[in-house]
Amino acid sequence: LASRDFHPDDTVIEIKGTKIGGGNLVVMGGPCAVESAEQIDEIAKLVKAAGGQVLRGGAFKPRTGPYSFQGIGVEGLIMMAEAGQKHGLLTITEVMTPEYVDICAEYADILQVGTRNMQNFDLLRKLGTCGKPVLLKRGFSATYDEFLNAAEYILAGGNPNVMLCERGIRTFETYTRNTLDLSAIPVLQQLSHLPVISDPSHGTGRRELVEPMSKASVAAGADGLIIEMHTDPDNSMTGDGVQSLFPDQFAALLKDLEQLAPLV
Ligand code: PEP
Ligand code: MN
Repeated sequence: LASRDFHPDDTVIEIKGTKIGGGNLVVMGGPCAVESAEQIDEIAKLVKAAGGQVLRGGAFKPRTGPYSFQGIGVEGLIMMAEAGQKHGLLTITEVMTPEYVDICAEYADILQVGTRNMQNFDLLRKLGTCGKPVLLKRGFSATYDEFLNAAEYILAGGNPNVMLCERGIRTFETYTRNTLDLSAIPVLQQLSHLPVISDPSHGTGRRELVEPMSKASVAAGADGLIIEMHTDPDNSMTGDGVQSLFPDQFAALLKDLEQLAPLV
């Protein structure tokens, strides 16, 4: 079902009037994690003002260490839904377990599967019937074939609205957090009809690389970007402040991107 052979035309996912795929560029911006109602409201305002269409923010965070901040949970979902509604943005949040799919689907417009869960098959199966579009992140060691098979689980479950997200893979290089695989963008678009989104924030792990890799992703044909932005990155509650853009950088980047592709 994920294959271009089966479905020659690009899939366009329409959510409340916003079209993702098929030549439109969608920008999703926001913090790694929802921290408070004030924080997510302020960031939503800035994402909207910059021309972004989707507010990102994790309420459930998949942390490498068990003692790290794990997200504020359901309260965060509610805060983000309110901020999105108030500022006219769609929302995307990560869901980590099948049990939480229904509640995440109640509050968010798009459900994100994180890199660590790309092959959580019970979760993928549950997302097949959740009724909401899914952004599936590539596992950090997954081949394209494994990635497309993971998408296939969601599609086969009855949900046609899947976006593929390249978020960097693990290589021998340690200067960057991951290696953003730009080739994935055209390869996945050749093999599949699903929209391809690039995540230059996790893909590089370094703020100063987000702008060039965002532009490179759009030049390579990405249908969208998911970018971390924070009003106070140095004090963010996850370690992802170092890769988060300041609001003025985010706004400047979107202005530049408009020259490359219209933000619809
Ligand atoms: C995130 O988007 O904050 C995140 C945890 O991403 P990934 O699953 O790509 O690490
Ligand atoms: Mn993050």
